[in-house]
Amino acid sequence: MPCYRCGVRQTDPERGQSPWRRGVLRDRLVLICPACQASTDWTADLEHCAQCRSAHLIRRLGQVECLDCGLVREPEASLVPARGPDPAASVPEPADATLADEVGRALERLLGRR
Ligand SMILES: [Zn+2]
Ligand SMILES: [Zn+2]
Repeated sequence: MPCYRCGVRQTDPERGQSPWRRGVLRDRLVLICPACQASTDWTADLEHCAQCRSAHLIRRLGQVECLDCGLVREPEASLVPARGPDPAASVPEPADATLADEVGRALERLLGRR
């Protein structure tokens, strides 16, 4: 996979740490070469963790995982462009029963129970 900014190809990584960094851009895993890391504010384009604002994210199995704090974003949440803390991160109790009730009452009114 080439660098997403300049398109340079990654040379065969030696054993140990690669100087290339991974990130997530528009829900895709991208690689950033060492030159681009040094020359630009390369994290500005990337997605950031909703919890710790780190750009050190990876994408796997449809999920986006933060390598710094371990936060995993589920695929459903990734459909919404995340800017700032994600309110969907804490899923509330399902309110289906209440909702169905309200819909039922609204329908009754609409259908003319006078
Ligand atoms: Zn590059
Ligand atoms: Zn994080």
